[in-house]
Amino acid sequence: MYSKILILRFPQEVVHKPLVCHLVREYDLTFNILNAEVLPRKEGVLVLELYGEKKNFKEGVKYLEDNGVRVKNAGQEIRRDEKKCIHCGACTAVCPTAALYVRQPEMSIGFDQQKCSVCELCVLACPTRAMKIRPTNQMFFDE
Ligand code: SF4
Ligand code: SF4
Repeated sequence: MYSKILILRFPQEVVHKPLVCHLVREYDLTFNILNAEVLPRKEGVLVLELYGEKKNFKEGVKYLEDNGVRVKNAGQEIRRDEKKCIHCGACTAVCPTAALYVRQPEMSIGFDQQKCSVCELCVLACPTRAMKIRPTNQMFFDE
């Protein structure tokens, strides 16, 4: 499973077309909408996390671009949902930068975001889905 946070900018002439629904039907992709706005010039901006097989992902993005949508990768970071973390330690086994580590002697799991390379391995490894990919900021609405 491949996933990325994307910023989609829909020109006024395509803003009402169901292009994102087409990604689900034709490319077997799923998505989670993180933000949606209509800009003053009636352009639409959608920030979403898109999931699927890598090949389908690339083809789906090409489909959007062929239909006039501007697609950009969002800056992204990993956050931990502290309420969901059960301190099982599964993420520490996959984390290549030691951003996730075992605190001694209490044996709880610490997360040092400064060391995180956003490789996303912990997102897949975490049994409770406590590790989440998030856009870093909203700057991409500027221009
Ligand atoms: S794998 Fe998930 S639940 Fe387990 S310690 Fe890591 S973040 Fe917490
Ligand atoms: S995204 Fe990668 S580097 Fe960051 S905490 Fe998870 S496993 Fe470690």
